[in-house]
Amino acid sequence: MDTFAVFGNPIEHSQSPYIHSLFSAETGIFHPYGRILAPVNDFEILLKQFFDKGGLGANITLPFKERAYLFCNQHTERSSFIGAINTIKKQPNGILLGDNTDGIGLLSDLQRLSLLRHNSHVLLVGAGGAARGVIASLLSYGCKLVLTNRNFLRAQKLVEVFYHLGNICALPLDHLMYPEYDLIINATSIGLQGNIPPILPESLITPSIGCYDMFYQKDDDTPFLSWCRRQGAYRCSDGLGMLVGQAAHSFYLWHGVLPSILSVLKTFQKEKAI
Ligand code: NDP
Repeated sequence: MDTFAVFGNPIEHSQSPYIHSLFSAETGIFHPYGRILAPVNDFEILLKQFFDKGGLGANITLPFKERAYLFCNQHTERSSFIGAINTIKKQPNGILLGDNTDGIGLLSDLQRLSLLRHNSHVLLVGAGGAARGVIASLLSYGCKLVLTNRNFLRAQKLVEVFYHLGNICALPLDHLMYPEYDLIINATSIGLQGNIPPILPESLITPSIGCYDMFYQKDDDTPFLSWCRRQGAYRCSDGLGMLVGQAAHSFYLWHGVLPSILSVLKTFQKEKAI
């Protein structure tokens, strides 16, 4: 039996089993890791069965992160701010600990790419689970954060949750021109929907701006990054580094060893070049 697994719906596209097999090979730690498609109504039942039968750790993805938070008996401090988790560890006493490694995964990738400074002015587009998972990390790094979203009320609600942690406000999509931003992060799911019309004003993209899409697709630029490049941006990156980073920090929670993010990214790059 796999003692580690990712739960989601859909799940067949997930790169997590592959990433974790690379971590296992690099560290020499036995780490059998599978993927489990959870029917929406049976998520908690499947998760309970998994841990009852000897599961030691789980990753949780769309659309179950909030429900997984409620399922756990205990939470790390960073995940309790967020109210959603992507990692569960079964502790030796049987208690299930929930954590959220999305924020640290994003932060470490932005640092690797030199896209972030301590006082960066960041525009975060989106107010779903992914945005929620990274706001506390960006604020704790010292960023000034503007949140925007199609459903503006959702953005305002997120600001209310996090305003005590730092400099954060919400602006509607048609009020974004000033001030200029150092970095735009796409945390919407528009990439999953293909080439839909862009939702941001073109004039936001200055030559020096950084553009980061949390979405990742294997063979091509994401629709958001293609649009940014067409407006003249050249400091662009997709969310693969975040994906590997959050996985590495899950691995760390389970085994106490942080695997190399860079060596996994190199493996992906080599495969892309073939
Ligand atoms: P959610 O479903 O929770 O949120 C979706 C967000 O996208 C909402 O803000 C929604 O706006 C917005 N949105 C959806 N369709 C449109 C549209 N047509 N036009 C404008 N806005 C739209 O998804 P998540 O937050 O969980 O995931 C968002 C993205 O982040 C996904 O692409 C996911 O793959 C990626 N992600 C990447 C990770 C990584 O490690 N690289 C980790 C986690 C997520 P509204 O509120 O108005 O509906």
